[in-house]
Amino acid sequence: MKFVKFILSITGLLVASSGMAQDKVLNIYSARHYPTDEVMYSEFTKSSGIKINRVDADDAGILARLKAEGSASPADVILLVDAARLWRAEVDGLFLPVKSAKLEEAIPANLRAKPADNGGTAWFGLSTRARVIVYDKMKFSKTDVDSYEKLADAKFKSSLCVRSGSHPYNLSLFGAMIEHLGPQKTESWLKGLVDNMARSPKGGDTDQIKGVASGECGVALTNTYYLARLMRSSKPEDRAVTEKIAVVFPNQSSWGTHMNVAGGAVARHAKNTDNAVKFLEYLASPSAQNHFANGNNEWPTAKGVSFDNPALKAMTGGSFKSELIPISAVGMNQIKVQQMLDRVGFK
Ligand code: FE
Repeated sequence: MKFVKFILSITGLLVASSGMAQDKVLNIYSARHYPTDEVMYSEFTKSSGIKINRVDADDAGILARLKAEGSASPADVILLVDAARLWRAEVDGLFLPVKSAKLEEAIPANLRAKPADNGGTAWFGLSTRARVIVYDKMKFSKTDVDSYEKLADAKFKSSLCVRSGSHPYNLSLFGAMIEHLGPQKTESWLKGLVDNMARSPKGGDTDQIKGVASGECGVALTNTYYLARLMRSSKPEDRAVTEKIAVVFPNQSSWGTHMNVAGGAVARHAKNTDNAVKFLEYLASPSAQNHFANGNNEWPTAKGVSFDNPALKAMTGGSFKSELIPISAVGMNQIKVQQMLDRVGFK
């Protein structure tokens, strides 16, 4: 009996102490697959005393997990790396709209969710990335590839390298193309891309850049931070890759280069909501925004943040025209895009 009592009191102690620990803990589900983010997590823990537990998965994996876990989900903060997935999660009710004067002040209205019924915001864009074209300088010139539409030109027959069409980065670009060109023209454009492929889609964006440098591909699509990472790499072989290729920010004379947004939200069933909001506020702070810019080569979304990234500067020459379309439109086009990809055989 004494023994049972002892066990119970030990258990009681554990419950009490874990209850206390809950106040200083934050559970994050993150699709940000960038090692340079570690600095931000430790900086936040150091300044707030809040310990971070992190689960890493891709956007689709996180959304599936949140749905399966329902109200039992331990997630407090969700970090996703694609506009359409942020939109999807919002529509599916996986986020808890929150009010934060700091976040509303820092993040421009077009880079966060529209106000929810309770006046809160379901998600906040924390960084942006451009989807650009890289090409083999020996084979093509800038005017050959100064628009996304031109990737379907016959001159790129057996030249195009691209990651899977169903990857969120491509789904969002193609969803944006539907907004600009309409569904019919977008589908024939996608068919043109398939006809021009140098190989069946495989690998990530960095593999496409390397494919251009090795001569296997003549032209490819990539997010800017993958290219910047190679440009700033300490490995000479990475920098050699970037010397063989050139980059174009497409559609400067029309609707502008396609931009995607990475963002954060409080989870619908968060237990540590105060900590979650505190963490999102930290991510919008000048210090964290600088980590996005200098660590992972993304553009900060918070107003008035100055940063100095030599690779981004070299790539853009200072400034460029970026696309301005509602994120919800890109999100809503996802199903249409997937059906088109199936019809044209874009794997
Ligand atoms: Fe990525």
